[in-house]
Amino acid sequence: MKFGETFMEYLHGDREWFLDKCSHVEYKRLKKVLKSCRTCRLNDSCTNECECKSCPLCDQLFFSELMREALDIAGCFSTRVRHLLHLHVAGGIERYMARLVHCFKTDQTTMIQEGRMLIEYVTMNAIAIRKILKKYDKVHSSVNGKNFKLKMRAEHIELLQSPWLIELGAFCLNFKRPGDGNSPSEFSTHFSFDVDVDVDDTPKMTLMLPDSMKLEYDLTCPICLDTLFDPYALGCGHLFCKSCVCLAASAMICDGPKAASPESKCPVCRETGVYPKALHMTELDMLLKRRCKGYWKERLTEERARVLKQTKDFWDSQTRFVVGY
Ligand SMILES: [Zn+2]
Ligand SMILES: [Zn+2]
Ligand SMILES: [Zn+2]
Repeated sequence: MKFGETFMEYLHGDREWFLDKCSHVEYKRLKKVLKSCRTCRLNDSCTNECECKSCPLCDQLFFSELMREALDIAGCFSTRVRHLLHLHVAGGIERYMARLVHCFKTDQTTMIQEGRMLIEYVTMNAIAIRKILKKYDKVHSSVNGKNFKLKMRAEHIELLQSPWLIELGAFCLNFKRPGDGNSPSEFSTHFSFDVDVDVDDTPKMTLMLPDSMKLEYDLTCPICLDTLFDPYALGCGHLFCKSCVCLAASAMICDGPKAASPESKCPVCRETGVYPKALHMTELDMLLKRRCKGYWKERLTEERARVLKQTKDFWDSQTRFVVGY
């Protein structure tokens, strides 16, 4: 089946109620724009394809519209994931109230179902964007589509690079009952998440997508080169251990990376302004704690020592400042 049809089937299938509240890629309409563009080009003999950098027929609306859709989808996705994961972590009265609001339906099954639907939602739309950009380049024999993809990545709206997707994957893996073993978390026939934290291998999370597309997320901290501990994602999407990223920005570990100066640069991509947008990856933390118990305990002891040392050094310097020696 062609992707266009699969996508239409997805949009109008039994998920319709879920998708009603979310924006999606207007795949069919964008494809129609490309089609009309192609027909115009065939009739218009004076268009010189090699020199043409942009297409007057469809550029104005094509990229701006796709950007708007991508932004909407990314926004909708992060809001809903945030809400869902908040419900998972929230305890006591908060959860109870949320349950009341959901008419007692917010049990594990519906939560995990929503998690899966969100993964499906974001990946389907991400594939739609990829396909339509490829089509654009084919019709125009240009690299504009490819450049647009790079731009999306640079502006951190590339849907499949979202730290929220990693959180959601961890969430699905966390929800498995102990009896399920460590097999991949599979849902529908097309999607599955897996985490691999073998001692001698690079720790990674894998997301299997339709058409045997495979995405891998490295769970190594680029600073200590070990498996992430108490992970945070900076605004640019790069993942670090809490203590590593705080020390890199000369922030107090106990205050967390959000407290770092906004001028601090990401240790990997050197972008500024990414610290205030730091995201605590609570589901990933829970998953790693469960899957690498020995390592996790070891790190916990080390981290406590690290925090103590930093606090002591801080107070020492303060006293020296006050006393003047
Ligand atoms: Zn065109
Ligand atoms: Zn680290
Ligand atoms: Zn970065």
